[in-house]
Amino acid sequence: MSQPHDRPTPASSPGTALITGATAGIGLAFARQLAARGHDLVLVARDEERLVSVAKDLQTSYDVGVEVLPADLTDRLALARVEARLAETDRPVELLVNNAGFGLKHRFLTNTADQETAMTEVLVIAPLRLTHAALTAQTARGHGGVINVGSVASYLPRGTYSAAKAWVNSFTEWAHHEYKPQGVRIMALLPGFTKTEFHERMGVGRNSAPGFLWLDVDRLVAEALADYDKGRVFSIPSPQYKAIAALARAVPSRVLQRFQSLGRK
Ligand code: NAP
Repeated sequence: MSQPHDRPTPASSPGTALITGATAGIGLAFARQLAARGHDLVLVARDEERLVSVAKDLQTSYDVGVEVLPADLTDRLALARVEARLAETDRPVELLVNNAGFGLKHRFLTNTADQETAMTEVLVIAPLRLTHAALTAQTARGHGGVINVGSVASYLPRGTYSAAKAWVNSFTEWAHHEYKPQGVRIMALLPGFTKTEFHERMGVGRNSAPGFLWLDVDRLVAEALADYDKGRVFSIPSPQYKAIAALARAVPSRVLQRFQSLGRK
């Protein structure tokens, strides 16, 4: 597998992008679209065989350098390897996409505290530590960026998943303004229900939400990258979710509690 640093970097190269959860769904769509833009890639996920297969496909299709970095982001030693990769100064990472994630089908007290902790490690601790590593290097260079994948669920009272995604919004909005003067761009992408492996892995069907709410993953990511190019702090792709997000912010939380079972059956 060719590594990003094995090839000469053309002056016009957009640089290397590191994507977590790059083997499926939203992360894979980011990998394809960033490769199409000429980015070399570092792909992170747990399944090494699948990482290598995705890497070969992207390298052949887009003629970019692709590196694989197998890591379970709930494991602090594995996470430290990803942080170390982001800190490398001779192989700089221009764009970090904190995307890896999963949801839990059941409610808080039905899950074990360990399951809840693992989800929080992937949705909060990993983006925090990886953003810290990326921004340390990027602010020193005076350029770079981070996209944090949150969710419109952050605007709804839906347990610890929503709470974790609300943290993503708050953290990203603050960091966007804090580090913009140092030349870096930070954006949160808030998807609605999107056709990926997410719900299947959670054990819920597509009939858990009405058809018009399901987004196409390639269109979602194309819109997110267009928003990133414009320097937006939040990207909420599709007119239906722009409207839902605006409504959710206006409606009292006790009313929104009634939609608890949406996306869980
Ligand atoms: P997906 O299709 O299930 O893909 C998840 C990716 O994350 C896979 O590459 C998976 O690979 C990786 N991953 C999962 N756990 C990991 C771990 N512990 N360590 C490292 N990698 C891990 O899910 P998706 O829908 O694309 O979700 C991506 C992001 O979008 C998540 O943050 C999710 O919360 C958010 N989101 C999704 C939706 C939706 O409706 N799909 C809506 C709103 C927000 P391995 O299994 O090999 O590790």
